[in-house]
Amino acid sequence: MRMTQLYAPTLRETPAEAEVISHQLLLRAGMIRKAAGGIYSYLPLAWRVLRKIETIVREEMDNKGGQELLMPIMQPAELWLETGRWNVYGDEMFRLKDRHNRDFCLGPTHEEMITTLVRSDVRSYRQLPLRLYQIQNKYRDEIRPRFGLMRGREFIMKDLYSFDRDEIGLEESYRSMYDAYTRVFSRCGLKFRAVEADAGAIGGSGTHEFMVIADSGEAGIVYCNDCDYAANVEKAELKPIYAAEEELLPKAVKDTPGIKTISEIAKFLNIETVKTIKALAYKTDKGVVLALVRGDHEVNEIKLQNQLNCLTLELADEQTVTEEFESTPGFIGPVDLKGKVTVVADLTVMNMFNAVCGANKPDQHILNVNPKRDFEPTIIADIRLIQENDPCPQCGSQLKTARGIEVGQVFKLYTKYSKALKATFLDENGKEKPMVMGCYGIGVSRTMAAAIEQNYDDNGIVWPVSIAPYSVAVIPVSAKDSEQLSLAEKIYAELNNNGVDTVLDDRNERPGVKFKDADLIGYPIKITVGPKTVSEKLIEVKIRRTGEVHYFSLQSYIEDVKALLSKL
Ligand code: ATP
Ligand code: MG
Repeated sequence: MRMTQLYAPTLRETPAEAEVISHQLLLRAGMIRKAAGGIYSYLPLAWRVLRKIETIVREEMDNKGGQELLMPIMQPAELWLETGRWNVYGDEMFRLKDRHNRDFCLGPTHEEMITTLVRSDVRSYRQLPLRLYQIQNKYRDEIRPRFGLMRGREFIMKDLYSFDRDEIGLEESYRSMYDAYTRVFSRCGLKFRAVEADAGAIGGSGTHEFMVIADSGEAGIVYCNDCDYAANVEKAELKPIYAAEEELLPKAVKDTPGIKTISEIAKFLNIETVKTIKALAYKTDKGVVLALVRGDHEVNEIKLQNQLNCLTLELADEQTVTEEFESTPGFIGPVDLKGKVTVVADLTVMNMFNAVCGANKPDQHILNVNPKRDFEPTIIADIRLIQENDPCPQCGSQLKTARGIEVGQVFKLYTKYSKALKATFLDENGKEKPMVMGCYGIGVSRTMAAAIEQNYDDNGIVWPVSIAPYSVAVIPVSAKDSEQLSLAEKIYAELNNNGVDTVLDDRNERPGVKFKDADLIGYPIKITVGPKTVSEKLIEVKIRRTGEVHYFSLQSYIEDVKALLSKL
């Protein structure tokens, strides 16, 4: 590709709307343009990167027996009514009607579509296992589309679905996909971690997320340096902490005017925050819930939601708190609750002694609350959010925390969809059984953005070679020097003929402009063709990531450049 022809409108300024680095650099490097919130055009350079990622994904899926197909983006509502997800999916689903007033949606995912496809054609155990995948746009009307390609409303996903005869088969499919994902993200040159994730309504221990480690990541993860434990903070399990036993003192009401927060109350009473109970009221589709954790702990809303098995959960507003607790936020608690509020207490709370909590009366707290004596929660469970230095559930060492970008997820679905959609087969004994399923997604466009979040510097993107739009940029220093130009042309042609993706900066621009653009776009190698090339037959080869410079002879540079690229 010649830069005079390349459609990559680079920008000098950082667009104000772009908060994260990948969004800024994708815009500045002329790789994407916004059409609407969370909806982008991929310009030629971005499209090349995406196709390279897709090629890696295809190779690894095919290696594990995956077969590529393509299903419709537009899906009839009937499929989703059958599984009940038409109503559950909520506002995140893009819905539309045809001219006959029939309901459709734009596929946010394809479990319904593929299960109905397979159920009508697969009848016998002999046709299983099956691993089918596609790479295609997905549509989700995210509440907060943001960060450019990271959280789009239209984005590219690879989704594979496995159909097995039994759970042993599913284990095998899951393991192969886990391995394939590990290979995909390694080949993309990313630093990532597979973490245990929350399986939500499906439950079980059947899901891992693949997280690219980056400060801008939306997900919190914990990991252990002494064993292989790693988990999404949403999922990470915690054992109860036992406070040292104390003599149970009688409860006492204390006036605490205007003292609302945990730190204020601890200061006011001159006690540690570990002696306080934090009480948070939530509104859910199953009524109002009071969640209790130790004062210095936070509520893990995903764990709470799983315990309650509710669809919606949000912090209650002041009015709800006043109605349900006859008090105000900051002064609510589990003791002497009159109403019908569900109380969920964290395991650690139940092992506290002589603690302090809100009195359900404005401006009052209760002292010497002893949970086992003074109230009876509806549910006692692990609902606490894990923190840095909490003990590893596997080996007890202190855990570390990091931020991650979820680029992929593997999931054991078991028979959730096959039962709902009656996707059955006849086993060896002629017995009808539901297929055992798994689903496995990779965010292809998010992976491109995540790669930038991990690979950039002040001058621009630093692409890993495997997914760079082009591996090499050939830059003649003087656009007027015909000898330099013809040598540059020759190198450009030879590298491309030898399978090295190369661009030629043939623009009539100052060298500084050309180098700046090459750095911004992030080609792994820059080759400068200057006076030395003409006089000494030497080219200057600079590595984008390290700034390291090599001089290669025109006689043997092709092999040298290839060898260098293979090491980057
Ligand atoms: P998230 O928790 O980030 O919303 P998800 O768990 O809903 O993602 P999945 O249904 O597991 O996503 O989708 C598979 C993959 O698709 C994700 O691992 C992610 O890489 C990608 N993905 C999901 N939502 C988006 C989005 N809005 N924009 C870009 N990529 C996305
Ligand atoms: Mg996910």
